Amino acid sequence: MIIGDDPILLTPGPLTTSSATRQAMLRDWGSWDAGFNRITGSLCRDLVDIVHGGDTYACVPLQGSGTFSVEAAIGTLVPRDGKVLVPQNGAYCQRILKICKYLGRAHVELKIPEDQVATPAAIEAALERDPSITHVAQVHLETGAGLLNPLREIAAVCQRHGKGLVVDAMSSFGALEIDVRDTPFDALIAASGKCLEGVPGMGFVIARKSLLEASQGNSHSLAMDLHDQYVYMQKTTQWRFTPPTHVVAALRAALDQYLAQGGQAARGARYRRNCETLIAGMAALGFKPFLKPEVQAPVIVTFHAPADSHYDFRTFYEAVRDKGYILYPGKLTTVETFRVGCIGAIDEHEIHNAVDAIARTLETMGVRHIAPQESVG
Ligand SMILES: *Cc1c(COP(=O)(O)O)cnc(C)c1O
Repeated sequence: MIIGDDPILLTPGPLTTSSATRQAMLRDWGSWDAGFNRITGSLCRDLVDIVHGGDTYACVPLQGSGTFSVEAAIGTLVPRDGKVLVPQNGAYCQRILKICKYLGRAHVELKIPEDQVATPAAIEAALERDPSITHVAQVHLETGAGLLNPLREIAAVCQRHGKGLVVDAMSSFGALEIDVRDTPFDALIAASGKCLEGVPGMGFVIARKSLLEASQGNSHSLAMDLHDQYVYMQKTTQWRFTPPTHVVAALRAALDQYLAQGGQAARGARYRRNCETLIAGMAALGFKPFLKPEVQAPVIVTFHAPADSHYDFRTFYEAVRDKGYILYPGKLTTVETFRVGCIGAIDEHEIHNAVDAIARTLETMGVRHIAPQESVG
C-alpha cells in the first residue's frame, strides 16, 4: 500500500495516501478545462451520495483546509442575527466558538468534560433554557480526544425544536455512517484529506439546497461566501477563483478507490480493525486509552503518557519517527497524553509494526513504568 521509505502518518490528516492517489497529481489541469470541471461535478455528486442526500442537498467545495469550510458554513448559513449553541467537549468545538466570535455570531457554550459525549438531553435542556438559539453547531467526532458524539439523537432534538444543525464531520465523514434520512442536518462539513484519504487542500459543505439558495448576503467575506461559490458553480460548472486542481484530481482518485473498496462500510471496518489492533497492542505494553471504549471512535486514540521520569514526548516522537511512524501530540488540557491515528491508506499490519516501533523506542529510552499516574480525567 505504501510507496518507498516515506514515513507512515499516524495523524488525523494529513494522512498516508495510496500510490494511485498520489499518481493522480502528476498532471496539470486548466481551471477552464471541461474535463476538470466534470471531475468537480462528479466529486460533488458522489459526496452527496455518501450521506444519501438525494436532490435536496448540494455539495459546495471550498479551497483551503477544513477550518476554512467550517468558517464558511457558519458565516453563510447562520444569519447575522442567529445564535449558535456549541456543545463543547474538545479542541475542535472550541475552534467553532472562536469562529463565532470572529464572525460576530451570538453563541452559547455548553461545556462538557472532554471524555464525555454531548448528550441529547443536555442539548435539549440548553435549547429550552434559551429559546433565542437558532442553530446547533455539533462536532460529530471530536478529534481532540477521539470521541464520538451521538449525532443521530442530537439531530432528532434539533428537528423536534425546529433548530438548524451544522455538523463538523471532518474526521468521521466517509468512515462512520451519516445518513440524512435518519440524521437530518442543515449542513455538514468535511475535507479532502481525512477519512476519504485524499490529500489536504480543500473542504466541502453538504447543505440543504433551499438554505443555500436563501443565504445570500449572510457572509461577511467574499472568499468564504458559500452562496456565491454555489451560485457561480451552478452557472459555470467552475470554481470561483483558482481551484486546487491537483487536490481535486487526487480526491477523485481517492473516491474511486473508496467506492471500489466497498464505500463507507468497508472504510469503517478497516479503521475499526486498525483501532482494535492499536489498542490491544498498546495495552500489551501497558498503555491505557484516555477514553472509555463506548465513546472511543475508530479514528484516533488518545493514550496517557507513561508516568516514568525517563519519558519525554519529543524524544519519544523523534525516535518513533526515525523508525518510520509519525505520532501526534495530545490536545488535552488536564492530562499528559499523546495520540495515534488509525486512518489513512494503512491496515492492521502497519499498526502492528508501529506498536512494535513504540515498544523498541521505550526500551531504548529506559521507560519502564508505562501505566499513567493514578489521576485520571
Ligand atoms: C481536522 C479537523 C478540522 C479541520 O482542521 P484543519 O486543520 O483546518 O484541516 C475540523 N474539525 C475536526 C473535528 C477535525 O478533525
